[in-house]
Amino acid sequence: PDVVNRMAAGEVLARPCNAIKELIENSLDAGATEIMVNVQNAGLKLLQVTDNGKGIEREDFDLVCERFATSKLHKFEDLMHMKTYGFRGEALASLSHVAKVNIVSKRAEDKCAYQGNFLDGKLIAPTKPSAGKTGTCITATDLFYNLPTRRNKMATHGEETKAIHDILVRFAIHRPDVSFALRQNQSSDFRTKGDGSFRDVVCNLLGRDLADTVVPLSLESTRLKFKFTGNISKPIASATAKLAQNRKSSRSFFSVFINGRSVRCDILKQPIDDVLQNRSLFCQFCSLHLEIDETRIDVNVHPTKSSVIFLEKEDIIDEIRNYFENFVSEIFG
Ligand code: ADP
Ligand code: MG
Repeated sequence: PDVVNRMAAGEVLARPCNAIKELIENSLDAGATEIMVNVQNAGLKLLQVTDNGKGIEREDFDLVCERFATSKLHKFEDLMHMKTYGFRGEALASLSHVAKVNIVSKRAEDKCAYQGNFLDGKLIAPTKPSAGKTGTCITATDLFYNLPTRRNKMATHGEETKAIHDILVRFAIHRPDVSFALRQNQSSDFRTKGDGSFRDVVCNLLGRDLADTVVPLSLESTRLKFKFTGNISKPIASATAKLAQNRKSSRSFFSVFINGRSVRCDILKQPIDDVLQNRSLFCQFCSLHLEIDETRIDVNVHPTKSSVIFLEKEDIIDEIRNYFENFVSEIFG
């Protein structure tokens, strides 16, 4: 059975950056305003997320790493809405099946922090009092120690290190009100202030030239029950963009969040791309957030929750395309 759990966990957390995404989402769910991520060897040796969120109760330590142990479903109605977040209570359990997990956590009302060590879904010794500030620090060491093939495949760290950087940048840009810090191999990659300034974050992470051309967009559909907001840089001629990319002088940034979750969503990208391509334009920066009634989407397609199915896909695409068409004409001529 542990082999089965391990294989399943290896599916959910295929890469270190998947684990980091899950841990960051947990921190945000816990109301954190400061999130620090610390990794060594692309997360294989060490992967640690520290937050100042509401913390975990000592009594809950026994359960947090059990499958389907979630504090986020309270009543039957919640089950009806759980689609938004995909499956529930799998992230920490999965992590504990493919790594050695340590959790230190303190709630504001507790006198001290508590810590526990987890393996294969279980707390392996009683929790102990520990030093620690209010919030939670989750550390996973030796990721994929029991999946040697996976571990060896990740032997070249370069790509994963970049993927970790990218996911942190996405969250930092999506949530300028939260301070994000990333350390890789004991040196600081970046830190954002968390003072709410979107422009500062973009400036800091992607450069002033780009930040200066960024404008907000916003569309609300009462009929389809969604709110679509985002920021986009002034489009440039595709030919110019190609040249720049060939010279590697510019990187493009495209990010989509749906109901607060970072997702890969070509469905939202498509109408934007259509409009731009028709005008031979290209956008270097595009950050989108779709907030949509939870009963109208299903993110339960893949365990990593990176793809989404929409109930009214065509209608949503049409509305966004029309809006964006007008937006580009009005704002950028
Ligand atoms: P889910 O997020 O779907 O509930 P997880 O496996 O990601 O499942 O987390 C299990 C539970 O552990 C959460 O429901 C929450 O109660 C608790 N938890 C995890 N991370 C944190 C955190 N950073 N701060 C507070 N509670 C946390
Ligand atoms: Mg979670």
